Amino acid sequence: MAGKTILILGGGIGGQVAANVLRKEISRDHRVVLIDQRPDAVFAPSLLWLIVGKRELQQIRRPLAPLSRKGIEVIQTEVTRIDPAARTVAAGEQILSYDSLIISLGADLAPETVPGLAEAAHSFYEPSGALRLWEAVRGFPGGRVVILIAATPFKCPAAPYEAAMLLDDYFKRRGLQTKVDLSLYTPEPLPMPVAGPAVGTAVKQMVEGRGIGLHPTMKIASVDPKGKELLFENGRRVGYDLLIAIPPHRAPRVARDSGLTGESGWIPVDPKSLKTRHEGVYAIGDITSIMLPVGKPLPKAGVFAHYEAETVAKNIAAELEGSKPTHLFNGRGYCFLELGAGRAGFASGDFYATPEPKVTMRSPGYHWHWGKVLFERWWLRHWL
Ligand SMILES: Cc1cc2nc3c(=O)[nH]c(=O)nc-3n(C[C@H](O)[C@H](O)[C@H](O)COP(=O)(O)OP(=O)(O)OC[C@H]3O[C@@H](n4cnc5c(N)ncnc54)[C@H](O)[C@@H]3O)c2cc1C
Repeated sequence: MAGKTILILGGGIGGQVAANVLRKEISRDHRVVLIDQRPDAVFAPSLLWLIVGKRELQQIRRPLAPLSRKGIEVIQTEVTRIDPAARTVAAGEQILSYDSLIISLGADLAPETVPGLAEAAHSFYEPSGALRLWEAVRGFPGGRVVILIAATPFKCPAAPYEAAMLLDDYFKRRGLQTKVDLSLYTPEPLPMPVAGPAVGTAVKQMVEGRGIGLHPTMKIASVDPKGKELLFENGRRVGYDLLIAIPPHRAPRVARDSGLTGESGWIPVDPKSLKTRHEGVYAIGDITSIMLPVGKPLPKAGVFAHYEAETVAKNIAAELEGSKPTHLFNGRGYCFLELGAGRAGFASGDFYATPEPKVTMRSPGYHWHWGKVLFERWWLRHWL
């Protein structure tokens, strides 16, 4: 078979896995090309440790260029247009043709969509924001700390709750327990609602058990950065001294401008094959929308981007070898849940189960925290 080109857009979790698996499974006659606007990749789950001084950025960041040693062509530029009819992608100055396309461009953060939010809030959802937050946290003398989930869906449904518990632990270690009032406001009815009421209640108890105020079904309307006040849609006003927001998320502009997104605002895909409605085009990870049998979307999480990437890469490899693509993404996932003081919980389950996801939470312990540490090390060595 003449050499084919597989283009992978995005060098985050999904893109890294897809590129590595493809390169391992297919002959060097075929090109594997990875495009990302950034020169390096950051292991996002570890941003939670960065905001409490447990990691430095260089420990969790790796350049993408060395992937070329494995035979993956890496191009650092912005993707500005995807044209499935012409089977081309505009990236920087180049127009690249593909035989298969994997879109793994993640989710963009859009704090500007809530009046006042971008000006007022810290966000640890990207590395520079996480670093700025750590500076603010380490110098924080005490006062009201509010963690605000501005909208759903957002990446890693556990992350804001983990951040609350890690910050609580950090402030306690600094002897500030009587001086810091930590609370979390969310439009969700319970933490991690897709995982079901048992998991949500367990997380709620963990958070509230630490004295952190949890305020569900609170939808933000605007923020007053000067008066340091949040205004919610129900008319409630809440003051803060340090505001940490999970900003609204949306699909990257290139996906929206190229007409790939559906009603949900994300790219619709077949839940098992991750095929889009365009021939030879797959989408994986945060940029997709997969509606579950329970009527809620599959959460945006690296674990799903990872397994979706493996599924797609193995199926493309099978097709190139002339066999049938038989791999199916099964909706299974897991998540370490950092609790502070060196402990963590672990949730895992089947999100494609009917009539609702079957997710269980294991008893928290030190071993789950060390599990996440080992997982971080493995990830950074294995894929990058
Ligand atoms: C603080 C935090 C903690 C988290 N913890 C966990 C966890 O414990 N477990 C878990 O499973 N998930 C976790 N996640 C979520 C996880 O990181 C994401 O779900 C995962 O990274 C999604 O992978 P992806 O490949 O879809 O997108 P990403 O990993 O975000 O990669 C997208 C890539 O596309 C690139 N890109 C975007 N637009 C363009 C463009 N126009 N041109 C070129 N390049 C572009 C970006 O630079 C980026 O590198 C966490 C996330 C955060 C923020």
